[in-house]
Amino acid sequence: MNLQDKVAVVTGASRGLGEHFAAALIDKGATVFGLARSADDLDRVRDRLGERFHPLVCDVTDQDDVTRAFDEINQQADSLDVLVNNAGLGRFGAVDDLPLDEWNLQIDVNLHGVHHCTRAAVPRMKAQNAAHGFGGHIVNIASVAGLVGNPNLSAYNATKFALRGYSEAIMKELRADGIKVTCVYPGSVATHFADAAGRSGSPNPMEPESVAATVVHVLEGPDNYLISEVVMRPLRPKG
Ligand code: NAP
Repeated sequence: MNLQDKVAVVTGASRGLGEHFAAALIDKGATVFGLARSADDLDRVRDRLGERFHPLVCDVTDQDDVTRAFDEINQQADSLDVLVNNAGLGRFGAVDDLPLDEWNLQIDVNLHGVHHCTRAAVPRMKAQNAAHGFGGHIVNIASVAGLVGNPNLSAYNATKFALRGYSEAIMKELRADGIKVTCVYPGSVATHFADAAGRSGSPNPMEPESVAATVVHVLEGPDNYLISEVVMRPLRPKG
């Protein structure tokens, strides 16, 4: 897809990987609707990226909020070409110690949030395919934690393994509608993810710009060419 003048929705765009996905897409000439809960952080991103970035305060766990956000996008934008389901978080702890609300929060954001946004985007992408022969591209940001289980990550692993299954299912389902689905599995990336998770991050993480450049590469592939999964890791995770 040539990203010039295309319209993308990026969830979790108020910082971290989402902010970098938005920056990379805008750099290619796309317009980005950035969803997150923090209005101040979204405004800071708009100040940095300019008026092609449209902040939309939205909690992806809240189906009504997501419906409102996509209604606004559908009114404002001529198309909906890319959805990057990026909003997510980790809360780590022993399986018999992790508070239930932290278990539920991860399922809500990392899994239900992805489904809410996907089901809001797919009808318009299907209509675009019917009209123009190409629907769009959905990119789900999982993690290597969606491929490998580890101690104290049971909830996070469960959500990201589930996202893998979800992504593969809808990839096979939606390609007939001209909609590409790619699931991305990054290792440690230098964002505030580890702070928010309350643990120290990798000593030598990947840069978010590198992950964003890979996602742009995946999006820019020819129409009849689908990269369905990408795993990325730091070369020397321990430095
Ligand atoms: P981050 O810096 O903590 O950013 C997380 C983003 O998600 C923020 O913009 C946050 O915005 C948003 N978010 C959280 N809950 C939300 C909700 N209910 N509704 C809407 N937005 C919400 O973390 P990150 O590293 O960029 O993580 C992005 C994605 O990459 C996640 O899915 C994560 O699992 C994945 N990932 C990260 C790493 C890593 O090492 N960093 C590695 C592999 C995969 P608000 O707080 O403003 O809502």
